[in-house]
Amino acid sequence: MKIIDLKCAIIGKSPVIRIVTDEGISGFGQTEWAKSYLKPFVLFYKPLIIGEDPTNVEKVMSKIRRLGAFKPYGAAVSAIEVALWDIAGKAANLPIYKLLGGKVRDRVLVYNGGIRFPFEGKDSPENFAKDVLKMKNLKEGFSIIKQGLSLHGRMATNYKDYFYGDVSWDNNGNQSSFTGGFSQNLPHGAQITEKGFNYTIDCILAMKEALGDEVGLALDLGPGINPSDALKFARAVEDLNIMWLEDMITGDYTPYVLADLYRDVTINTSTPIHTGEQIYLRHNFKDLIDKRAVNVIGPDPLDVGGLSETKWIAEYADMNGIMIAPHGTIDGLIGLAAQVQLAATLPKNYIAFEYCVPCHDWWYDIIDGLPNPIVKDSYIDVWDAPGLGVSFNDEAKKYLKEEDKDFFE
Ligand SMILES: [Mg+2]
Repeated sequence: MKIIDLKCAIIGKSPVIRIVTDEGISGFGQTEWAKSYLKPFVLFYKPLIIGEDPTNVEKVMSKIRRLGAFKPYGAAVSAIEVALWDIAGKAANLPIYKLLGGKVRDRVLVYNGGIRFPFEGKDSPENFAKDVLKMKNLKEGFSIIKQGLSLHGRMATNYKDYFYGDVSWDNNGNQSSFTGGFSQNLPHGAQITEKGFNYTIDCILAMKEALGDEVGLALDLGPGINPSDALKFARAVEDLNIMWLEDMITGDYTPYVLADLYRDVTINTSTPIHTGEQIYLRHNFKDLIDKRAVNVIGPDPLDVGGLSETKWIAEYADMNGIMIAPHGTIDGLIGLAAQVQLAATLPKNYIAFEYCVPCHDWWYDIIDGLPNPIVKDSYIDVWDAPGLGVSFNDEAKKYLKEEDKDFFE
């Protein structure tokens, strides 16, 4: 079997990759839907993989892996890897999890970092509590909910004098806000004020009170928090059984790791410390894991280099006592299928992956193969159809932009 084409269409806002073979089998992959600008990066790899046998996934990847980078530039490589596994699975008539070593669980736990409600009223501890209560009551029955606070999201800009630094303003003169992809002005930084710190703790206490001990609360707080503030946060919430504090120092769209700074925080607190969604390749997790600099890593399979890359990292983390909770909030429905196949195979350090949502609800109408309902009591049952086990139906064509009209041909 040979690869004869690599295509990329932006469906809604979501870059979708299709690898076409000479035997009539196609494979699909997808990147985060905040990255519609990635299409040229995807096509950049086309001449490097044409003519290769897609079922030799590792050989194909060895040609392109070194031409990726930290988020967002590892996404194209990662989505191509997923599409290769989709082809390999279809060619073997096996689900991808069989090719990754077989499943170790029949259902995979997911956590909520993506299903959000418009924030009602002013920022206040009470309204943060109401917000997580709505998430607690979702039909998916999530057993872990993640909330963005502090420098991650609205707090740094909405709460006056949150930190000793300038609030970022966008080019239109508005206070910048987190957009779900990246804000042009993130990350903020500098010391957090005492009242900003106390306010953050009040919001965390209110959310914990609302959730009780039935639903775990994870917090995404940065990047940009200095190590001493990070340790203060971690120690201040030690009695609250927080699932993890995410990306406080480096993280989202930060093209470096600073493992030693994380280690200084992690070894001085019992609160689990988490990072890793922006990191590309196992090599860039080595320092974090060798130094046991965090308690939980959160690579995104659609940024880190793909499914087998994530599995390598998970196994190495497991040997070092580090847990894994893969990132994935806006990886879309093909991303969701890829995450399920991967999570089925991860070792015992697997906690949950971040449930992936599409950019538009009509995505649920154009993809066949997902279970209905998808999530039951915070779990997704692993399915057995070949490859990713999901496919586009005829409805999908009507959402193709003019320039992508031949995407399925
Ligand atoms: Mg995050």
